Amino acid sequence: MKIIMLGAPGAGKGTQAKMLADKYEIPHISTGDIFRANIKNETELGKKAKEYMDKGLLVPDELTCNLVVDRIQQEDCKKGYILDGFPRTIPQAEALDKALTELNDKIDYAINVEVPDENIVGRMSGRRACVGCGATYHIVYNPTKEEGICDRCGKELILRDDDKPETVQKRLNVYHEQTQPLIDFYKNKGVLKEVDGTVDMNDVFNAIVKVLES
Ligand code: ADP
Ligand code: ADP
Ligand code: ZN
Repeated sequence: MKIIMLGAPGAGKGTQAKMLADKYEIPHISTGDIFRANIKNETELGKKAKEYMDKGLLVPDELTCNLVVDRIQQEDCKKGYILDGFPRTIPQAEALDKALTELNDKIDYAINVEVPDENIVGRMSGRRACVGCGATYHIVYNPTKEEGICDRCGKELILRDDDKPETVQKRLNVYHEQTQPLIDFYKNKGVLKEVDGTVDMNDVFNAIVKVLES
Protein backbone atom coordinates (compact mmCIF):
# COMPACT_ATOMS: atom_id res chain seq x y z
CA MET A 1 0.00 0.00 0.00
CA LYS A 2 1.54 3.29 -1.14
CA ILE A 3 0.03 6.31 0.53
CA ILE A 4 0.58 10.08 0.40
CA MET A 5 -0.60 12.24 3.30
CA LEU A 6 -1.82 15.68 2.20
CA GLY A 7 -2.89 18.56 4.42
CA ALA A 8 -1.82 21.89 5.88
CA PRO A 9 1.09 22.08 8.32
CA GLY A 10 -0.34 20.92 11.63
CA ALA A 11 -3.29 19.08 10.09
CA GLY A 12 -2.16 15.86 11.76
CA LYS A 13 -0.38 14.15 8.84
CA GLY A 14 2.55 13.01 10.96
CA THR A 15 0.32 11.78 13.79
CA GLN A 16 -1.78 9.71 11.39
CA ALA A 17 1.19 8.53 9.33
CA LYS A 18 2.86 7.11 12.46
CA MET A 19 -0.33 5.27 13.48
CA LEU A 20 -0.79 3.88 9.96
CA ALA A 21 2.86 2.81 9.76
CA ASP A 22 2.43 0.86 13.01
CA LYS A 23 -0.81 -0.77 11.89
CA TYR A 24 0.28 -1.77 8.39
CA GLU A 25 3.98 -2.31 9.23
CA ILE A 26 5.26 -0.11 6.43
CA PRO A 27 7.77 2.76 6.70
CA HIS A 28 6.73 6.31 7.54
CA ILE A 29 8.79 8.62 5.36
CA SER A 30 8.72 12.23 6.52
CA THR A 31 10.83 14.71 4.56
CA GLY A 32 10.60 17.12 7.51
CA ASP A 33 12.09 14.45 9.81
CA ILE A 34 14.82 13.68 7.25
CA PHE A 35 15.77 17.37 7.02
CA ARG A 36 15.72 17.77 10.82
CA ALA A 37 17.98 14.71 11.22
CA ASN A 38 20.39 16.26 8.70
CA ILE A 39 20.35 19.57 10.59
CA LYS A 40 21.10 17.76 13.84
CA ASN A 41 24.01 15.89 12.23
CA GLU A 42 25.24 19.13 10.59
CA THR A 43 25.38 17.63 7.08
CA GLU A 44 25.67 19.75 3.93
CA LEU A 45 22.01 19.03 3.14
CA GLY A 46 21.06 20.02 6.68
CA LYS A 47 22.87 23.35 6.43
CA LYS A 48 21.12 24.19 3.16
CA ALA A 49 17.68 23.01 4.29
CA LYS A 50 17.85 24.96 7.55
CA GLU A 51 18.08 28.30 5.73
CA TYR A 52 14.67 27.69 4.19
CA MET A 53 12.98 25.90 7.07
CA ASP A 54 13.77 28.65 9.59
CA LYS A 55 12.02 31.14 7.30
CA GLY A 56 8.95 28.95 6.86
CA LEU A 57 9.83 28.42 3.19
CA LEU A 58 10.03 25.16 1.27
CA VAL A 59 13.39 23.55 0.70
CA PRO A 60 14.08 23.66 -3.08
CA ASP A 61 12.77 20.74 -5.16
CA GLU A 62 16.33 19.86 -6.33
CA LEU A 63 17.30 19.06 -2.75
CA THR A 64 14.13 17.12 -2.01
CA CYS A 65 13.05 14.95 -4.95
CA ASN A 66 16.09 12.69 -5.39
CA LEU A 67 16.19 12.01 -1.69
CA VAL A 68 12.64 10.64 -1.72
CA VAL A 69 13.02 8.79 -5.03
CA ASP A 70 16.07 6.99 -3.56
CA ARG A 71 14.33 6.28 -0.26
CA ILE A 72 11.27 4.60 -1.79
CA GLN A 73 13.48 2.16 -3.68
CA GLN A 74 15.00 0.73 -0.53
CA GLU A 75 14.21 -2.82 0.49
CA ASP A 76 11.84 -1.91 3.35
CA CYS A 77 9.55 -0.03 0.91
CA LYS A 78 8.68 -3.12 -1.17
CA LYS A 79 5.39 -3.71 0.68
CA GLY A 80 4.50 -0.03 0.66
CA TYR A 81 5.14 3.22 2.49
CA ILE A 82 3.53 6.38 3.76
CA LEU A 83 4.86 9.67 2.43
CA ASP A 84 4.34 12.50 4.91
CA GLY A 85 5.19 16.01 3.79
CA PHE A 86 6.15 14.98 0.26
CA PRO A 87 5.18 15.95 -2.39
CA ARG A 88 4.61 19.59 -1.46
CA THR A 89 4.77 21.20 -4.91
CA ILE A 90 3.47 20.25 -8.36
CA PRO A 91 7.05 19.72 -9.69
CA GLN A 92 7.69 17.33 -6.76
CA ALA A 93 4.49 15.41 -7.58
CA GLU A 94 5.52 15.22 -11.23
CA ALA A 95 9.01 14.00 -10.30
CA LEU A 96 7.50 11.30 -8.08
CA ASP A 97 5.09 10.31 -10.81
CA LYS A 98 7.87 10.01 -13.37
CA ALA A 99 10.02 7.91 -11.03
CA LEU A 100 7.10 5.61 -10.18
CA THR A 101 6.18 5.17 -13.85
CA GLU A 102 9.76 4.13 -14.58
CA LEU A 103 9.54 1.62 -11.73
CA ASN A 104 6.21 0.36 -13.11
CA ASP A 105 4.54 1.42 -9.88
CA LYS A 106 1.93 3.90 -8.60
CA ILE A 107 0.45 5.63 -5.57
CA ASP A 108 -2.70 3.91 -4.24
CA TYR A 109 -4.15 6.69 -2.10
CA ALA A 110 -3.58 10.39 -1.44
CA ILE A 111 -5.31 11.17 1.83
CA ASN A 112 -6.17 14.81 2.44
CA VAL A 113 -6.57 15.58 6.13
CA GLU A 114 -8.82 18.64 6.15
CA VAL A 115 -8.35 21.23 8.90
CA PRO A 116 -9.28 24.92 8.49
CA ASP A 117 -6.59 27.58 9.02
CA GLU A 118 -8.20 28.90 12.20
CA ASN A 119 -7.46 25.59 14.00
CA ILE A 120 -3.85 25.45 12.87
CA VAL A 121 -2.13 28.09 15.02
CA GLY A 122 -3.41 26.45 18.23
CA ARG A 123 -2.22 23.06 17.04
CA MET A 124 1.25 24.34 16.21
CA SER A 125 1.82 26.39 19.36
CA GLY A 126 0.84 23.35 21.46
CA ARG A 127 2.84 20.87 19.40
CA ARG A 128 5.85 19.30 21.07
CA ALA A 129 8.26 17.19 19.06
CA CYS A 130 10.60 14.49 20.30
CA VAL A 131 14.29 15.15 19.55
CA GLY A 132 14.88 11.38 19.49
CA CYS A 133 12.23 9.70 17.36
CA GLY A 134 10.31 12.61 15.83
CA ALA A 135 7.00 11.68 17.52
CA THR A 136 4.72 14.67 18.02
CA TYR A 137 2.43 15.44 20.93
CA HIS A 138 0.14 18.27 21.91
CA ILE A 139 0.11 19.85 25.35
CA VAL A 140 -3.71 19.77 25.40
CA TYR A 141 -4.95 17.30 22.75
CA ASN A 142 -2.30 14.60 23.07
CA PRO A 143 -0.16 15.06 26.19
CA THR A 144 2.65 12.70 27.15
CA LYS A 145 2.37 10.65 30.33
CA GLU A 146 5.29 12.55 31.84
CA GLU A 147 5.58 16.22 30.91
CA GLY A 148 8.36 16.98 28.43
CA ILE A 149 9.37 13.32 27.95
CA CYS A 150 8.55 11.19 24.87
CA ASP A 151 6.25 8.22 25.59
CA ARG A 152 7.84 6.23 22.78
CA CYS A 153 11.56 6.65 23.43
CA GLY A 154 12.06 8.63 26.65
CA LYS A 155 13.92 11.52 25.02
CA GLU A 156 13.22 15.22 25.50
CA LEU A 157 10.42 17.19 23.79
CA ILE A 158 10.88 20.62 22.20
CA LEU A 159 8.80 23.36 20.59
CA ARG A 160 10.10 23.51 17.03
CA ASP A 161 11.50 26.92 16.01
CA ASP A 162 9.26 26.96 12.96
CA ASP A 163 6.14 26.33 15.12
CA LYS A 164 6.28 29.82 16.61
CA PRO A 165 3.24 31.86 15.53
CA GLU A 166 5.15 34.28 13.25
CA THR A 167 6.50 31.41 11.13
CA VAL A 168 3.26 29.43 11.19
CA GLN A 169 1.35 32.10 9.24
CA LYS A 170 4.11 32.15 6.63
CA ARG A 171 3.98 28.35 6.33
CA LEU A 172 0.22 28.45 5.90
CA ASN A 173 0.57 30.95 3.05
CA VAL A 174 3.20 28.74 1.42
CA TYR A 175 0.86 25.77 1.85
CA HIS A 176 -2.04 27.52 0.09
CA GLU A 177 0.15 28.73 -2.76
CA GLN A 178 2.35 25.74 -3.43
CA THR A 179 0.89 22.60 -1.85
CA GLN A 180 -2.90 22.92 -2.01
CA PRO A 181 -2.88 22.51 -5.84
CA LEU A 182 -1.85 18.90 -5.21
CA ILE A 183 -5.39 18.15 -4.07
CA ASP A 184 -6.65 18.60 -7.64
CA PHE A 185 -3.57 16.87 -9.03
CA TYR A 186 -4.42 13.67 -7.13
CA LYS A 187 -8.18 14.09 -7.63
CA ASN A 188 -7.51 14.00 -11.37
CA LYS A 189 -5.54 10.80 -10.91
CA GLY A 190 -8.54 9.26 -9.11
CA VAL A 191 -6.66 8.45 -5.89
CA LEU A 192 -7.75 11.36 -3.65
CA LYS A 193 -9.61 10.58 -0.41
CA GLU A 194 -10.68 13.29 2.01
CA VAL A 195 -11.11 12.95 5.77
CA ASP A 196 -12.21 15.46 8.41
CA GLY A 197 -9.11 16.29 10.44
CA THR A 198 -10.87 18.39 13.09
CA VAL A 199 -12.21 15.45 15.10
CA ASP A 200 -10.34 13.45 17.74
CA MET A 201 -7.17 11.86 16.35
CA ASN A 202 -8.48 8.32 16.92
CA ASP A 203 -11.60 9.16 14.91
CA VAL A 204 -9.46 10.58 12.11
CA PHE A 205 -7.48 7.34 12.17
CA ASN A 206 -10.62 5.18 11.99
CA ALA A 207 -11.90 7.23 9.05
CA ILE A 208 -8.62 6.69 7.18
CA VAL A 209 -8.56 2.96 7.90
CA LYS A 210 -12.14 2.73 6.61
CA VAL A 211 -11.07 4.40 3.36
CA LEU A 212 -8.08 2.08 2.96
CA GLU A 213 -10.09 -1.06 3.68
CA SER A 214 -13.25 -0.25 1.72
P1 ADP B 1 4.72 20.02 9.14
O1 ADP B 1 4.56 18.59 9.57
O2 ADP B 1 4.39 20.96 10.23
O3 ADP B 1 4.00 20.34 7.88
P2 ADP B 1 7.28 19.19 8.19
O4 ADP B 1 8.04 18.54 9.27
O5 ADP B 1 6.61 18.35 7.19
O6 ADP B 1 6.26 20.21 8.87
O7 ADP B 1 8.21 20.21 7.41
C1 ADP B 1 8.98 21.19 8.07
C2 ADP B 1 9.71 22.04 7.03
O8 ADP B 1 10.60 21.20 6.28
C3 ADP B 1 8.82 22.69 6.00
O9 ADP B 1 8.28 23.92 6.45
C4 ADP B 1 9.80 22.87 4.85
O10 ADP B 1 10.67 23.96 5.08
C5 ADP B 1 10.63 21.61 4.92
N1 ADP B 1 10.07 20.52 4.08
C6 ADP B 1 9.56 19.34 4.51
N2 ADP B 1 9.15 18.60 3.47
C7 ADP B 1 9.40 19.33 2.34
C8 ADP B 1 9.20 19.12 0.95
N3 ADP B 1 8.62 18.01 0.47
N4 ADP B 1 9.59 20.11 0.11
C9 ADP B 1 10.16 21.23 0.55
N5 ADP B 1 10.37 21.50 1.84
C10 ADP B 1 10.00 20.56 2.74
P1 ADP C 1 1.48 17.65 10.61
O1 ADP C 1 2.39 16.47 10.47
O2 ADP C 1 0.37 17.65 9.62
O3 ADP C 1 2.22 18.94 10.62
P2 ADP C 1 1.09 16.74 13.38
O4 ADP C 1 0.69 15.32 13.23
O5 ADP C 1 2.46 17.03 13.85
O6 ADP C 1 0.76 17.55 12.02
O7 ADP C 1 0.03 17.44 14.35
C1 ADP C 1 0.13 18.83 14.69
C2 ADP C 1 -0.25 19.02 16.16
O8 ADP C 1 -1.66 18.78 16.34
C3 ADP C 1 0.47 18.08 17.11
O9 ADP C 1 0.69 18.77 18.31
C4 ADP C 1 -0.53 16.93 17.29
O10 ADP C 1 -0.38 16.28 18.56
C5 ADP C 1 -1.87 17.67 17.21
N1 ADP C 1 -2.95 16.86 16.59
C6 ADP C 1 -2.84 15.95 15.60
N2 ADP C 1 -4.03 15.44 15.28
C7 ADP C 1 -4.95 16.06 16.08
C8 ADP C 1 -6.39 15.98 16.23
N3 ADP C 1 -7.12 15.16 15.47
N4 ADP C 1 -6.96 16.78 17.17
C9 ADP C 1 -6.21 17.64 17.92
N5 ADP C 1 -4.88 17.75 17.82
C10 ADP C 1 -4.25 16.98 16.91
ZN1 ZN D 1 10.65 9.94 21.03
